Amino acid sequence: MTTPVPPVTEPDHSVLTCLGSEVGLCAVCQRKTHRYGKGGSPLCTWCLASAREKWGPRVTYVSTRP
Ligand SMILES: [Zn+2]
Repeated sequence: MTTPVPPVTEPDHSVLTCLGSEVGLCAVCQRKTHRYGKGGSPLCTWCLASAREKWGPRVTYVSTRP
């Protein structure tokens, strides 16, 4: 890990640049993050980065369903 992950009480940076109505909680760590579209399972920058490490750069969305 080269980039330290801030505490989950700290909102994701994307929150600062999006509309308040688009703010949702990260599906993994419950951090406030930018929610893309309705009914999705948003991931914050940090969780998305670790998801991409696991599954590759094409990962943009993670379903909570198996
Ligand atoms: Zn997260």
